[in-house]
Amino acid sequence: MSRQRDIDLSGAPVVDAHCHGFEVDKLLARDPGSWTDRITLMGMCFASAKSLDRRLAKPVSKMTERTIFAMLGRRWLADFLGCPAEKVPQVRYAALEADPKGYISRLLNDECIKGLLVDDGYPLPRVDPEKLEAVVGTRVHRVTRIEPLIEEARNVTHNVQDMEEAFRALLEEAALDPRCVAFKSVIAYRTGLDVGSPTKDEVTESYRRWKDAEWKEGRETSKDLRDHLLNVTLEIASREDRPVHIHTGAGDADVVLSYARPSNLASLLTRFSAHPVVLIHSGYPWLEEATYLASIYPMAYLELSLVLPWATLDVDRGLSLILGSVPTSKVFYGSDEASEPELLWISAKLARAALGRVLGCAVERNYLTQGEAERVGRSVLAENVLRLHGLAE
Ligand SMILES: [Zn+2]
Repeated sequence: MSRQRDIDLSGAPVVDAHCHGFEVDKLLARDPGSWTDRITLMGMCFASAKSLDRRLAKPVSKMTERTIFAMLGRRWLADFLGCPAEKVPQVRYAALEADPKGYISRLLNDECIKGLLVDDGYPLPRVDPEKLEAVVGTRVHRVTRIEPLIEEARNVTHNVQDMEEAFRALLEEAALDPRCVAFKSVIAYRTGLDVGSPTKDEVTESYRRWKDAEWKEGRETSKDLRDHLLNVTLEIASREDRPVHIHTGAGDADVVLSYARPSNLASLLTRFSAHPVVLIHSGYPWLEEATYLASIYPMAYLELSLVLPWATLDVDRGLSLILGSVPTSKVFYGSDEASEPELLWISAKLARAALGRVLGCAVERNYLTQGEAERVGRSVLAENVLRLHGLAE
């Protein structure tokens, strides 16, 4: 029996549609020995979630040794660095410390990573995109997260009208920055994805309840106001010609899980059906729901991080599901790197190979020609995200 031929995507440029910034001195301040913990989904989410008991750090670390992603990440990096796998945490630390720019840009060059769309809402305070660009040696685009702007607007005002006005001004100001290629909301982490269109009175009432609760977040307090401000964001985004990225699906343990399923977003997608909305994480683990939305809403797009790279063995199934059902021009590669820069590289490497296998299978079945499969692979890795964000040459 002949083995299926994978599509060769080596050398195809990559643009990462969703990742987070970092600062070298903060990377170096971390314990080198727990690097492997920080690249796993559990380790990364344990670090960002505020709601988990900090005493769990030890058991989390123990699980790393039995996590396939940690094993593959460490071994691949060992090959790249030319050292034994068990030495990777120390050797990569030494490389980063000796020449941060040289080390990180070598990783990105190795996987042909030509651009990063960086969600500026995590970590906070915001990472300066110019400094980040100098370290990574590739173009850094800014995705402006609205929740820190909502907080900023709330802190400098005393009533709901002034707050909305301040928020609008902050968004308009962000849009003046040529680096800003999209707006982003993590409303799934605040009050849920079932965004409605509350009346003016409901919004005012929500502000009052939220304030009376001393800004304690919750569906009973801030939901109507947050829903309204996301609607405002869509309105400004359409005037300013910026796609809106929305976190869908699970994330760390702080997410409002019962309202994080992408199907909750259907009413917003219907209301703003002419505006491009990127479903960040493709609703993982509810990939089927996001796939369905993107296959019927013409302007709903899918970004692949979370299933990619952390589902490891299951990545191929995720890609088959999505690419098999959704116009392939609407699917973007993303890593969701939010802890260590090596994730940008491991994720791109894993995605390139998985796409090669899944598209190779499509050719073997005579669904696609070799040329078509190659074009799909390249478009998912970089061209689609560039086109939607007005960055294509
Ligand atoms: Zn993220």
